[in-house]
Amino acid sequence: MESNAFFALQHEVEDFVEGPAVDMGLGLENGSIGPMSVWDELKRRGYLRLAAPESLGGLGLSMGQYLTLLEKFSAMHGSMRMIVHVMNGIWRPVHSHASFAQVERFVKPLIQGEHIITFTLTEPNAGTGSDIKTKAYRDGNDYVLNGEKWLITFADVADYFLLFARLAGSAGSGGTLALLVDRDSPGLDIELMPASMGLSGTGHGHLRLTECRVPVVNRLGDEGEGLDVAFHGFLDPSRLGIGMTTVGLAQRALDLAIERAKTRVTFGKSLAQRATIRERLAEMATDVEAARQLCLWAARRWDEGCLLPEDASKAKLYGSEMLQRVTDRALQIFGGIGYFHGYEIERIYRDARAQRFEEGTAEVQKAVIGRALVAGGSAQEAKQDPVPVVTY
Ligand SMILES: Cc1cc2nc3c(=O)[nH]c(=O)nc-3n(C[C@H](O)[C@H](O)[C@H](O)COP(=O)(O)OP(=O)(O)OC[C@H]3O[C@@H](n4cnc5c(N)ncnc54)[C@H](O)[C@@H]3O)c2cc1C
Repeated sequence: MESNAFFALQHEVEDFVEGPAVDMGLGLENGSIGPMSVWDELKRRGYLRLAAPESLGGLGLSMGQYLTLLEKFSAMHGSMRMIVHVMNGIWRPVHSHASFAQVERFVKPLIQGEHIITFTLTEPNAGTGSDIKTKAYRDGNDYVLNGEKWLITFADVADYFLLFARLAGSAGSGGTLALLVDRDSPGLDIELMPASMGLSGTGHGHLRLTECRVPVVNRLGDEGEGLDVAFHGFLDPSRLGIGMTTVGLAQRALDLAIERAKTRVTFGKSLAQRATIRERLAEMATDVEAARQLCLWAARRWDEGCLLPEDASKAKLYGSEMLQRVTDRALQIFGGIGYFHGYEIERIYRDARAQRFEEGTAEVQKAVIGRALVAGGSAQEAKQDPVPVVTY
């Protein structure tokens, strides 16, 4: 996007985040508003199609521009951040292997926010990636699926599940399938999972597939390309996105801690006048900036077409560990009252914890980075190495 238009959009987003989004977040937290009203508002404002190309109906922001906005959005309530992050990324794997007809049927409506599609990979009884156990067999013009998926974000509102399964009898990445499974498919049972620690208002689902029929025309790519769909063009930009969402939330925690330090007086002085508190704030600010610059560096590499998987993993790894440190320190500066409901820092602390799981844990990011280091090249060159490839 041309720079004047982008600056205007940036100001608009800041006004939204500091204005109407605050009440929406409070409403999600106390249950006084439903998540769909938030989806509708984000969609109406065009915030769910920022990163998609203009040719598909998006705003066509560069990765650097998108991440600059995503940092702002990430100061919002965790569930609102999640909607923006997921919807600005999920079109990539769908589009990566879509036929012309599927672009019209799935990709364009998805980008317009007319469909909600959610990424459906994690299983209760398998590692996330080439270990998946959900099985499919072909019966005429359908696949018939049996298996389970869980922890699936937006399972309560999704129209389609971008679901990964494997052909019965196959192993490893071979024989995997990517299917767009209609939520009304016969044989699909969707159970809402218990409320999570944070991210109030976001529903997560446990899916059970019993002889569930999915038309073959809903398959993206060929048989055997399922995990390519999952990871092609999705995981790396998405990990970058999560990296930047940690920056936005950590910056909010830091700002709150500074505000609190200036106003809380103990033994005749504000906390902000104490050297130990200033040192702590200085460490937090440095940590946030280091994560921000790592994400922006990786975004430049993406925009130049040379981002390696390990670059994205570094941004995600550092960001999610940084967020844990910064939110913990911010809560400490608040003192005991910050541990109580109603204080934003308490909600931030809980929301932050989810980000260590999204798009893969620290263990997985280290496996990707470590594999590239010892292979002497990029992680892509070491495809045979059975490091788990985990998303979300
Ligand atoms: C809020 C939230 C939303 C989510 N949304 C989605 C979603 O929409 N779609 C989706 O598909 N998934 C989703 N997930 C699932 C998420 O991707 C997984 O929780 C995460 O990838 C970890 O996988 P797991 O839970 O199966 O943990 P496990 O695989 O059971 O791992 C447990 C621990 O062991 C470590 N570990 C596992 N295998 C290895 C190994 N080989 N080597 C070293 N360490 C290992 C892991 O790093 C982790 O710390 C979500 C999770 C959360 C918390």
